[in-house]
Amino acid sequence: MLIDTHTHFYDEWLRPDAEEAIQRALAAGVGKLIQADIDSRERPAMWEIGDRHPGVIFEMLGLYPGSVDGAWREEIDRLLAWREAILARETTPTRGVILAQEAVGGSGTRQTAGPTSQIAGTASQIAGTASQFADPAPQTAVPAPRSCIVAVGEIGLDYHEGKEFAAQQREAFRVQLELASAWDLPVNIHLRDAWEDFFAVIEDCRHLHIRGNLHCFSGSYELFERAQRSGEWSVGIGGVVTFRNASLAGTLARIPMERILLETDAPYLAPVPYRGKRNESAYLPLVAAKVAEIKHLPIEEVERITTHNAETLFRI
Ligand SMILES: [Zn+2]
Repeated sequence: MLIDTHTHFYDEWLRPDAEEAIQRALAAGVGKLIQADIDSRERPAMWEIGDRHPGVIFEMLGLYPGSVDGAWREEIDRLLAWREAILARETTPTRGVILAQEAVGGSGTRQTAGPTSQIAGTASQIAGTASQFADPAPQTAVPAPRSCIVAVGEIGLDYHEGKEFAAQQREAFRVQLELASAWDLPVNIHLRDAWEDFFAVIEDCRHLHIRGNLHCFSGSYELFERAQRSGEWSVGIGGVVTFRNASLAGTLARIPMERILLETDAPYLAPVPYRGKRNESAYLPLVAAKVAEIKHLPIEEVERITTHNAETLFRI
């Protein structure tokens, strides 16, 4: 079994046939899938899809750097409220059912609507959650190890479209590193054109003992090594590794297998021969095959090690 550690079934490009895409992934041997969160606009759809596949689809919770603007603090408040609502319903093992039952006030009528509308309602009731933001101290409500929330992500820095909100991105990133530390969760990092600022933030947060992975890693081996000095970092390898001229192959050859996770970032960055087309988690074996070729290992060994790495990091 392979694990796709970074995918987006809720993306509007994939959403129309997300269910079929999930089935294709399972048929291709991709047995566990982790969806990366973007912001409050996309979050309900993400959870709705995940709720249909407990134990197969897991979620991250995080504010994507590209979604950071002047209203980022409100976005963090929504994220905190969402987590509260998810943890409240996770007091029982059946994902999605309890919240719906609570919403009908014990009338006994099973609500067929998804849990997401109830979560939105719950979030507004937790107005006091905003005050948590000012106090990054660990909270008493520690999530169960097998919670569907398995990481804080995708978070980080992205200056590719400009640096208008660079300062806010750094603040939002730092705050979410503190949350991950308080919640004892790994982080999933999105980083583009911002390596130096990334190092500045994580070196500043060294006391938090951050662990996680650098999603869609495209840096040099030196950058990989430098990151290890401020935390415990794996690299997420996806379709880019199959592109011709990818310098990533040379870097990957030097990165230990124990630090490698497989991912698709579907619907983006499809591997060869689908490059430029819509990506799917079902294409993950193509990435695994390329890693096996670079590492001179049987594909079964790549599968075994990367799956173990993902299960250990995300506790799934
Ligand atoms: Zn992503």
